[in-house]
Amino acid sequence: MNNRSIVIIGGRIVDPSQNFDRTADLVIEDGEISAIDPPAGQLPLGEPTVIDAHGLLVTAGFVDIHTHLRVPGFEYKENLISGTRAAAAGGFTTVCAMPNTSPVIDSRSVLESILDQAETEALVHLYVHGAISVGQHGEQLVELGDLSDAGAIGFTDDGNPLSSSRLMRHALEYATQLGRPVSNHAEDPGLMAGAAMHEGLVSTRLGLPSAPRQAEEIMLSRDLLLAELTGGRYHCIHVSSAGSIDYIRRAKDRGVNVTAEVTPHHLTLTDELVAGRTEPLSAVLPPYDPNTKVAPPLREQADCDALVSALADGTIDCIATDHAPHALHDKNIEFADAAVGFTALETALASVLTLVRDGRLSLAAAIEGLTIAPARCYGLPGGTLKVGSPADVTVFDPDEEFIVDPASFRSRGKNTPLAGLPMHGVIQRTFVDGVQVFDRSAEDPAVVRA
Ligand SMILES: [Zn+2]
Repeated sequence: MNNRSIVIIGGRIVDPSQNFDRTADLVIEDGEISAIDPPAGQLPLGEPTVIDAHGLLVTAGFVDIHTHLRVPGFEYKENLISGTRAAAAGGFTTVCAMPNTSPVIDSRSVLESILDQAETEALVHLYVHGAISVGQHGEQLVELGDLSDAGAIGFTDDGNPLSSSRLMRHALEYATQLGRPVSNHAEDPGLMAGAAMHEGLVSTRLGLPSAPRQAEEIMLSRDLLLAELTGGRYHCIHVSSAGSIDYIRRAKDRGVNVTAEVTPHHLTLTDELVAGRTEPLSAVLPPYDPNTKVAPPLREQADCDALVSALADGTIDCIATDHAPHALHDKNIEFADAAVGFTALETALASVLTLVRDGRLSLAAAIEGLTIAPARCYGLPGGTLKVGSPADVTVFDPDEEFIVDPASFRSRGKNTPLAGLPMHGVIQRTFVDGVQVFDRSAEDPAVVRA
């Protein structure tokens, strides 16, 4: 579909960036949103492509600020083509790649090579986070200015907790001068040593080595103190503990320059899943399934409840997938030895919509958390349908049911604890800069599985 003019008619447009929520038409011209709810008869000249969205939701394309695309070095887990195809299929029009690659994204040359590769391979907008420390060894600060000039949107050693308070302090000081946020995989290595899951009744029952939620809270609260000390801009990634929310709330109350994200899985899943799943009966998940292993780990219902409330009240700013694809051989081993992480780009919307269907999160808050809110955390374009914005648009059916089938994922990572579950919320079309990059009705399963 190469027509420069597209009219998406009859859909329910939900755009929290401008408090817009009603049935209306959306007009795209030359890659931009040119009109929202135009007066009857006022359509683009020529013959625009008309897309019927009756019964569907039309939103800004989703923005994922925390995506592991595994490039360079781990292309057997994911590559830019498969990762951004997965993004488009999941309604994401922007992804931000994490730097725990091989080599680590700790230099201008590595960062620029990914951006070059993205020019030809990425189906959606792609941004890159730079590492904080050389090789993510936690010892020597990278050339933050150089990386920032090359386009790094922020700095993180994600995947490797940054233990050195001194290094975190300096990273915050320098990154702030560059206007870039710093984030950290907040899990205290001492407490985490050998841990495979969250410490609680379930870990005791299963006899698996575990770590308490304080492993996260200790490091997160330290980072918040250092953000306060330096006046630095800190972003809390994959917040998973109810206790962490208290620290974030108090830091925000004191005026600390902090934002926070939560993953779809920490909002919706608990450690009970590690003990197995019996519902639905047709898709039993055995206990000790490594597909339930993630870092930080799945916690308890009280944590989920607190995270949902914090997202609703703004203490947590946004949703980020922490999409972490792995090869089968990384996961199909003993629980204790298995790699951590879930593939999530293609199930994120459905996970979040479970909260909307249960009446625990408003639709507007859910869409805000997937669109304008993450864009704001890193100052990215997108996440809005305001006139003049890039025409990054997602069209989906929030009520259509599907069974999660990892074999159908565009991602190379099939590692999800949701396999076999019935869920609701199916992406129909995704547009990036006015170009359709995903069309459910045109998908050829044979191609998808290739
Ligand atoms: Zn992490």
